[in-house]
Amino acid sequence: MIPAAFDYTRATSVEEALGILASDEGAKLIAGGQSLLPLMKLRLAQPARLVDIGRLPELRGVSKLDDGRLSVGALTTYAELMDSPAVHLAVIRDVVPAIADVQVRNRGTIGGAVAHADPAADLPAALLALDAELVIQSSSGTRSVKADGFFQGPFATGLAHDEILAAVILPAPRGDAGSAYASIQQRASGYPIAGVAAVVFVGAGGLVEGAGIGVTGVSDHPYRAHEVEDALVGTTGTADAVAAAAALVVGDREVSADIHAGREYRAAMAVVHARRAIEAALARAR
Ligand SMILES: Cc1cc2nc3c(=O)[nH]c(=O)nc-3n(C[C@H](O)[C@H](O)[C@H](O)COP(=O)(O)OP(=O)(O)OC[C@H]3O[C@@H](n4cnc5c(N)ncnc54)[C@H](O)[C@@H]3O)c2cc1C
Repeated sequence: MIPAAFDYTRATSVEEALGILASDEGAKLIAGGQSLLPLMKLRLAQPARLVDIGRLPELRGVSKLDDGRLSVGALTTYAELMDSPAVHLAVIRDVVPAIADVQVRNRGTIGGAVAHADPAADLPAALLALDAELVIQSSSGTRSVKADGFFQGPFATGLAHDEILAAVILPAPRGDAGSAYASIQQRASGYPIAGVAAVVFVGAGGLVEGAGIGVTGVSDHPYRAHEVEDALVGTTGTADAVAAAAALVVGDREVSADIHAGREYRAAMAVVHARRAIEAALARAR
């Protein structure tokens, strides 16, 4: 339980951190340390240098953009997110309390959760359903990408070694929207066996005009279930329509199996929780 030896630099600016990443292949960022430190203690990760970005004020806090969207700095903790305007998004109110425990939510950061890309991390499901954008910085500039497509495999993302996730952009709350997160958790860690986030936009006459469905815990990375969205849009969200859409949540993806749940059970739980999340989102939109 003792990490291998490593060098340590506390970055005093994003530029300094980016410079170290660009020049040192063995350098790794640390923010809240809630995922990286346990891995280092088990020697599953052995970075030669830790670059501590945990005290950079420019990566912290939630601010409103001119178009009403919210920019959530990567160092914002789960607890800070719950104390910000992001709580106007119901799916955020659902998902954050489902993550870990109070201690982890006080230290763990949004950027760390997204960059770490645990296949069963809760927050990515909500970000996928919300169609969130990720702001990524490197020494050569800043780029934005959609959350959809960013998660590529177990602990694998679209981030390059010399890049920092600077912020997550959340949509502005909308009057015609409803959202929710539903999951079944492992008792010990709280990680989901299957977790589904749903966002729906309901128009006049109760017609579903748009939807976002994010899924986690089910396969080797969190994903957006476009097939469920397509099946929901254009319906009035009847119980039959929701059940038919939810049934598509796994599709032909390879479902994970581990000591907590076999493939068949996990797939079944994904369908159940897709239905629950969609029903709750629809109820909130009406
Ligand atoms: C006991 C326990 C229970 C947990 N239960 C859950 C759970 O139920 N659900 C859940 O979703 N999660 C759970 N977690 C995981 C927790 O959500 C994450 O550990 C935490 O959010 C990661 O953020 P961090 O700031 O601590 O990241 P760190 O541990 O500091 O970093 C994690 C990784 O992200 C990289 N990184 C960090 N910040 C950035 C950045 N800005 N740009 C680029 N790369 C970056 C680091 O290099 C590292 O590879 C649990 C963790 C613990 C310890």
